[in-house]
Amino acid sequence: MNPSHIEHIGIAVKSLEEAIPFYEKVLGLKCYNVEEVADQKVKTAFFKVGQTKIELLESTDPEGPIGKFIEKKGEGIHHLAFAVDGINDKLQQAEEMGVRLIDKTSRKGAEGLDIAFLHPKSTFGVLTELCEDKNNK
Ligand code: ZN
Repeated sequence: MNPSHIEHIGIAVKSLEEAIPFYEKVLGLKCYNVEEVADQKVKTAFFKVGQTKIELLESTDPEGPIGKFIEKKGEGIHHLAFAVDGINDKLQQAEEMGVRLIDKTSRKGAEGLDIAFLHPKSTFGVLTELCEDKNNK
């Protein structure tokens, strides 16, 4: 897949309002964007650390993926996202190599990125996201 870098790390939190001050005051990062992704039933907050982002995820619906994740496992790291080129080709390659896909083709995620998830059953327990930024090319 040749990812260029870790695009972001997704972290499930119960409340953005409560979690943001840790990242801002303790780590000294700046929250530069808060965005709701209705499709995924989340509100997201973004911080940059070098080329990599931290994406905090607060559920907007207890039945959504983050709501269910927190209920089962509590707050914590939810997924790891790799930046790739040609996301749909990479998905196809992964499938041909026997990886189970959650998304067969990419869809729009936060910040206008094209994203897709690989199933954690095929990735040793880590929900893995591929993303491609077609806007900055
Ligand atoms: Zn993500």
